[in-house]
Amino acid sequence: MIFDILTIFPEFFASPLQEGVIRRALMEGKIKVGVHNIRAFAVDRHQMTDDRPFGGGEGMVMKPEPLAACLKALGNRPAASRVILLSPKGERFNQQAAQRLAEFEQLIFICGRYEGVDERFRDKYVDEELSIGDYVLTGGELAALVALDAISRLLPGVLGCEHSAPNDSFSCGLLKHKQYTRPRVFEGTAAPEVLLSGDHAAIARHRFVESVELTLERRPDLLHDVQFTPDERKILRKSGLLGRIETLVNSQRNDSRHEG
Ligand code: SAM
Repeated sequence: MIFDILTIFPEFFASPLQEGVIRRALMEGKIKVGVHNIRAFAVDRHQMTDDRPFGGGEGMVMKPEPLAACLKALGNRPAASRVILLSPKGERFNQQAAQRLAEFEQLIFICGRYEGVDERFRDKYVDEELSIGDYVLTGGELAALVALDAISRLLPGVLGCEHSAPNDSFSCGLLKHKQYTRPRVFEGTAAPEVLLSGDHAAIARHRFVESVELTLERRPDLLHDVQFTPDERKILRKSGLLGRIETLVNSQRNDSRHEG
């Protein structure tokens, strides 16, 4: 996977790309990251990449020509390439979006600054707009890094343990179960006995129930889309959770019917 990042602050990416899983993925050639300075494509002698908004108002707007020139300088692109503008007005970035985008060969992230980018650049060159949450950052660089990180760890061979990503929170629609490690007893609290039992089936059942309980408590909205297998339904019935889930999902359905 190739990530190309267009930014006026290329230095921003120096340290985050030099740590942990992302650093290893880069070194092993699992991902390639090109950071491109939009300022190098400014057309005037002051290297201006922004200007005052037409119609007045606060702040500055990123000019379309340097952005377009920087994008064109990337050269020929593979067919499976996507130009993504990071923007608080975009579609919400989540695990499903990360999974979808992990299928592309090249992702080009455009990092906005100031009041954002000239709309004509967006109309002409951008395939999709992504937001990492309902808040406003000072620039798209952090958002690009969030997306790069979440997408990279889904790529084959990037995570040390191949099975980590499919079992993560959201991947199967549930939040992940709780985790414990040594010591067995920490400040008077023991780790759950079942995890030390060596009974793998019992551990899997315990973790599944815990996962559902956590999702019910913290993110009940996710349960609407989860399809449990007959075996999972049996476990949930036994632990008294199935009734709670069915009541919740039915009320969510009624709510959305009334809203519709
Ligand atoms: N005035 C804009 C608005 O209200 O929609 C916000 C501009 S923001 C100060 C500058 C840049 O930060 C944006 O162009 C975008 O690239 C980035 N940005 C800010 N919040 C973001 C978010 N939640 N997700 C993705 N990018 C964001």
